[in-house]
Amino acid sequence: MCGIVCYVGEREAKGILLEGLKRLEYRGYDSAGVAIQNGSGVHFERAVGRIADLERKIGTRPLDGTAGIAHTRWATHGEPSEANAHPHRDRDGNVFVIHNGIIENYRALKKKLEGRGVSFRSETDTEVIAHLVALHFEGDLCEAVRKTMLQLEGTFGIAVIHRQVPGKIVVARRGSPLIIGIGENCHLAASDVSAMVRHTNKVVHLLDNELAVLSSDEFSISTVQATPIERVTETVDWQADDAELNGFPHFMLKEIFEQPETVRNAIRGRLDYSEGIPRLGGIAPVWEGLKQCRHLVIVGCGTSYYAGFVGRYIFEKLTDIDVTVELASEFRYRRINFAPNTFVLALSQSGETADTLAAIREARRKGASLMGVVNVVGSSIAREAGAGVYNHAGPEIGVASTKIFTSQLTIMSLLALLLGRHHSLSLTEGIEAIRAVDALPGQISRVLSLAHAIEAMAEKYHLKSNWLFLGRKYNYPIAMEGALKLKEISYIHAEGYAAGEMKHGPIALVNPDMPTVAIAPQDSVYEKMVSNIQEIKSRRGPVIALVTEGDEEIREIADDVIEIPRTLEFLYPILSVIPLQLLAYYCAKFLHRDIDKPRNLAKSVTVE
Ligand code: GLU
Repeated sequence: MCGIVCYVGEREAKGILLEGLKRLEYRGYDSAGVAIQNGSGVHFERAVGRIADLERKIGTRPLDGTAGIAHTRWATHGEPSEANAHPHRDRDGNVFVIHNGIIENYRALKKKLEGRGVSFRSETDTEVIAHLVALHFEGDLCEAVRKTMLQLEGTFGIAVIHRQVPGKIVVARRGSPLIIGIGENCHLAASDVSAMVRHTNKVVHLLDNELAVLSSDEFSISTVQATPIERVTETVDWQADDAELNGFPHFMLKEIFEQPETVRNAIRGRLDYSEGIPRLGGIAPVWEGLKQCRHLVIVGCGTSYYAGFVGRYIFEKLTDIDVTVELASEFRYRRINFAPNTFVLALSQSGETADTLAAIREARRKGASLMGVVNVVGSSIAREAGAGVYNHAGPEIGVASTKIFTSQLTIMSLLALLLGRHHSLSLTEGIEAIRAVDALPGQISRVLSLAHAIEAMAEKYHLKSNWLFLGRKYNYPIAMEGALKLKEISYIHAEGYAAGEMKHGPIALVNPDMPTVAIAPQDSVYEKMVSNIQEIKSRRGPVIALVTEGDEEIREIADDVIEIPRTLEFLYPILSVIPLQLLAYYCAKFLHRDIDKPRNLAKSVTVE
């Protein structure tokens, strides 16, 4: 889950590595460290806390050298402490290793190493790698890493330097992302391209069980079995600017405000008005099978899972397909028998979410066909699914996902519409849907213009310690997503419920001190939502209602009202989630939370 960044070239590595780490800090931020090679020596420094703490600790220490590795950690084994921070080194301080992932057999390896007299300095699983590489080293670092890889079980992205091998970095991966960047007279490697876009947009993806040797003027890739690999260079369309705040106080707010653009990117060039049908090139490899698809299983984690949950209602509305939605983390425990013509659709921002990756591998084993909706081009899920649609939403850096959620909903709406048109949807219905999708970016801008009013509501309610979010049908998952956003970044306890379930339990909680957010646009379940709001008001619970513009009925009963533009029923979630993102953001702001780096969380969850 952590961040890895490496540089080897002609410039001083220190500044480049620290700057790269700052861009990766959203991926893990309990401690950080750097090791830089200088002639026949290696200098390293580690610190608990943020990159700024590491920088302070380094202070004016020169840490000279033009090759180095750097890491920001999200602890899995051993508390966040300086001793557990990466890089880890062998006994003689020759080998320095940074690692993303979990070495599952580290206990057995550690025992063996201890039997050979090796003593350990940390509680991490990572440290065994440093000792193993040192034991295997006979002058060829790549060979030593290769032999080590053969002994490791679990997931890793690693970068290794050796005191006696100047100007070279060896990187390797199994299950955790690692990307090589090709710069001018330099090479970089990182767990995420956003750490490199300032220096290059030419990248090469390392795949599982591959390793690479980088020096300033060349790099070579081979498999763990020592087969050389030639891989084409890809060009990333992200700009250095995408990973900057550009005047916003937080990435989360910046990304909320990017949604008119990111939803536009999700539909750009994909709407065909004349036939009332979307065009999605990425599904061409599976299109023949998809036309026969009768069962769809959507998998995702966290916010992507809730997007999938909305997707279920959308596919059921527009197509004749049976749909289920599964938590990717629970998928492997299910005994699902895939009927013929079943597709599994994986949703993941990073394309590296370990649980989702495991779910699609399991689905493939069981004979299902695969598709992905992924933001990061070339990521593991994108590759393994083999077909799908990219979000093209630029990097999402705020830990609480916002713009990818609305982008995922937009893409699933297009996918469902495409299939629906091949089933029973008429041309008129297709054109009506396309027109409504096309209007979304403008409508989202209108919702965003309410930010100040929503900020005022957050000021009024942010000290309430329990919240309820209610919705029905398409907006039931939005209630859960709204509650999740509030929990994640403000640490306020919140529950998202299907409004019809309120009477079966949560109504017992309603009191003047617990706000309820009721998502009640004028759709097919509007009247039922009005009754739910009445029931809460009868018990003196404060209600913030999300309604369609011009709704007078709810305005009379709710304490606070947020209006969203009118759209087709299945598209309301794309608009209704945005005020909830803003509400969570502003509550967290009034509570002085660290919004882009919420406690205990990390952005892309690459461990199971
Ligand atoms: N498992 C390693 C540790 O706990 C690496 C964690 C990470 O990916 O940041 O140190």
